[in-house]
Amino acid sequence: MEKKENIDIFREKIIGSNEILITSHHNADGDAIGSATALALLLKKLNKNTNIIIPNDFPAFLHWMPGVDMITVYHNNEEKSASLVKSADLLISVDYNEPTRLKKAADIVFSSEAFKVMIDHHPNPSDVFDLHFSETGYGSTAEFLFNIICELGYSDLIDNEIAECLFTGIMTDTGNFSFSCSYPEVWETVARLIDLGVDRNKVHSSIYDNYTADRMKLMGYSLSQKMTIVPELNTAIIVLKRSELDKFNHQPGDTEGFVNLPFSIKNIKFSVLFIEKRNHVKISFRSRGNFSVNAFASSHFNGGGHMNASGGESDKSIDETVEYFLSLLNDYKNELQNSD
Ligand code: 5GP
Ligand code: MN
Repeated sequence: MEKKENIDIFREKIIGSNEILITSHHNADGDAIGSATALALLLKKLNKNTNIIIPNDFPAFLHWMPGVDMITVYHNNEEKSASLVKSADLLISVDYNEPTRLKKAADIVFSSEAFKVMIDHHPNPSDVFDLHFSETGYGSTAEFLFNIICELGYSDLIDNEIAECLFTGIMTDTGNFSFSCSYPEVWETVARLIDLGVDRNKVHSSIYDNYTADRMKLMGYSLSQKMTIVPELNTAIIVLKRSELDKFNHQPGDTEGFVNLPFSIKNIKFSVLFIEKRNHVKISFRSRGNFSVNAFASSHFNGGGHMNASGGESDKSIDETVEYFLSLLNDYKNELQNSD
């Protein structure tokens, strides 16, 4: 339960605002888009002029979602984004907790004088927000948002479309209900969303049965040619270079989920995916058990995230980045071998 006082302030701010701007993080995923669209659709029902800004393009497997027409991609439309920020009288950040997660859009968005609310499930929120809804116990922001909507007294406004967006956020952030969902409340929320009309089969196949053949081949290639196991450290790494991604006509979102695949291998506790971008290397870290990849990413790769799922970046070349990573790994031998 959120503090009643904070819920009351949030409700007052919503009621008192006309132009509401929702933002979510760089490389938006199902939880970012699902939470943003669910909230935008709800606010629209309250007759608020509502827009969403995300920093860069989002994956094609999320394009079917209700409410995506309210999204402006900052990278493609800086002018419109600036004017939306200027006219906003309430700013709501979902599924991220510090301005840097907006990359180049951060300066514009956080220059806004509007009241700033954050709804998120990552640890260590920044203090730039006027009001925090921050709970790390939730597997997804979408699940947390569902509860906030109920506490605000707006649950009657949750229709089939809003429920579908929230369901998508919960489904994708729990890896299709395989992690971060071992507590009863999440299943109670899912049951309520299904009761509100979510067609689980439709949502599931829209997300997971909607890839290109190239993406499937890239996945096969990543596993058969590019995965290395370090058995004594219970670690798997996959390294993908730009030229390899190009060969498979890589699209945004194509490598989503690859980092989780090695956990099907016995005894893997730490999985890392390196992706060569144009000017940097993007790294995804995942763990099972109590090895904190959030601490690992923030200590060495200027990143962060959750205890078992985090990301970071490197300005070194991809080969140097992997070499640097491997040089760090031995220091974590005890932690990795003893994590459970
Ligand atoms: P992914 O590996 O899917 O990009 O990200 C995994 C998790 O780590 C997500 O919760 C995401 O928000 C977070 N994350 C990814 N990259 C970064 C980063 O550069 N900085 C921080 N603080 N969090 C990140
Ligand atoms: Mn999330």
